[in-house]
Amino acid sequence: MKLKTLEITGFKSFAERTKIEFMPGITGVIGPNGSGKSNIIEAIRWVMGEQSAKGLRGDKMADVIFGGTTQRAPLNRAEVAITFDNTDHYLHSEYSEITITRRLYRNGDSNYQINGVNVRLKDVYELFMDSGLGRESFSIISQGRVESIFSEKPIERRSIIEDVAGVYKYKQNKDKAKKELVDVHDNLTRVADILYELQ
Ligand code: ATP
Repeated sequence: MKLKTLEITGFKSFAERTKIEFMPGITGVIGPNGSGKSNIIEAIRWVMGEQSAKGLRGDKMADVIFGGTTQRAPLNRAEVAITFDNTDHYLHSEYSEITITRRLYRNGDSNYQINGVNVRLKDVYELFMDSGLGRESFSIISQGRVESIFSEKPIERRSIIEDVAGVYKYKQNKDKAKKELVDVHDNLTRVADILYELQ
């Protein structure tokens, strides 16, 4: 699985539609301070489902929409599309190329698409679950995060290791199964009560 392209329109400093093609090998982004290097990384995190405005250096999510400059009026919509080459089917999908798109309008409307089909945020999360990618993954490490990993409590560090090791999904399944067991137990108690009343 390889990152192929990133298309950014109306997201933060990228008012114009900007397409970045990732070639084989290492890609470096260079530019003066404030030119938008971090905004590119944030666009990647955002399209993968980032929900924290603060994590994107804003107060509210609408802050990611291009807010205008002295030369250019603000825009009403932010859109980011990321495309992966998935010919090795590393991501659990039948498609050999996967494009995820996220849009947000100033009135709060938003949507996600996978290969042009409207999906829920949950579907985007599930696509990346245990892939080592995704909004909370360690494939994207922002400034200051390295330090925070070392200073985190052991229990928090353990969850990071579990995520990297790919056991997070199974923990989630286990929690779901536990909840279902509690529900079944409640239902059985209720059945026992009814039987008792009928006797
Ligand atoms: P540095 O090298 O200092 O870390 P950088 O190249 O990573 O800088 P960014 O932090 O990505 O730069 O970009 C900051 C710029 O993005 C600022 O000029 C800021 O005004 C602009 N910006 C952020 N949000 C918006 C927005 N919603 N609308 C327009 N411009 C925005």
